[in-house]
Amino acid sequence: MLRVRGLKKYFPARAGFFSRSNDLVLAVDGVDLEIPEGTWLGLAGESGCGKTTLGRCILRLVEPSEGQILFRGQDVRAWDGETLRRNRSQLQMIFQNPATALNSRWKVGELLEEPLQIHARLAPHERQRRVEDWLDRVGLESRHRECFPHELSGGQRQRVCIARALICSPRFLVADEPVSALDADIQGQVLELLKLLHRQLHLTALVISHSFPVLAALCHRIAVMYLGKIVEEGPADRILGSPQHPYTRALVAAATNGHALEQALPGEPPSPLHPPSGCRFRTRCAFAMDHCARSWPEAVEVYPHHRVACFLFHQRDQ
Ligand code: SF4
Repeated sequence: MLRVRGLKKYFPARAGFFSRSNDLVLAVDGVDLEIPEGTWLGLAGESGCGKTTLGRCILRLVEPSEGQILFRGQDVRAWDGETLRRNRSQLQMIFQNPATALNSRWKVGELLEEPLQIHARLAPHERQRRVEDWLDRVGLESRHRECFPHELSGGQRQRVCIARALICSPRFLVADEPVSALDADIQGQVLELLKLLHRQLHLTALVISHSFPVLAALCHRIAVMYLGKIVEEGPADRILGSPQHPYTRALVAAATNGHALEQALPGEPPSPLHPPSGCRFRTRCAFAMDHCARSWPEAVEVYPHHRVACFLFHQRDQ
């Protein structure tokens, strides 16, 4: 369904008010991913590691700097504005904060009808029927179509966002922290709704989250990102049950023990403006060796369909 090769996104660094800067922030730096049809891939990592930028690049909500994105064999980066608009209904996103993702001046009915007006050739009565159907599917009632977003709870607003993203039957979805803005008891309900829709619609998705329990609940596979690069990717049960990369091990240990990551891992991630040479994780890694500073370790398969980018596993191969 989706194949990403060597994807990069560099942003110009913000300069001071009177000065210019030619420095680049390496937000996404050479990412390869494959998401087969019907699979949900989770993307984990600390805030600022490039997860959201990667998701937005895949949907071309921001323009990548380099690399290839193939959606059902088509080169997404080669699409002109008109082709992108035509295909937009196929590639949708659920945004992190339902409070800001919805136009506050529109009623729920209008919010759900708008994508149909743009992307679907339906008669008005068919659009109304589709809106009613989706209100029901996401657990809202017919009366909610007359509500403005501020009249709904956070969970109800996220249900509207989910319905709006799915109402035109997309093939691929990016869900960016789909429950992180919700109260804990509502998170479970929205996760159950996403699981149900996954089963019903046979969707393919990239789920971005800093929470392993959320990724475990939704995803078949998990990729772990650090400073713009994927350091480990594999089946969700392997990543959570037998993490291999030192960074993934720290993330999983922190999540398992209910600790903040800082307790498992010293220091802050370095700035993506001036990342460390070689392995980006080396400044926080207890196993760092001299040659970790010289080059980036290419990913090696440590188990079927489980790949790790770390020299510890290169040595094991030799
Ligand atoms: Fe640590 Fe070296 Fe592996 Fe990077 S490549 S995670 S620094 S051991």
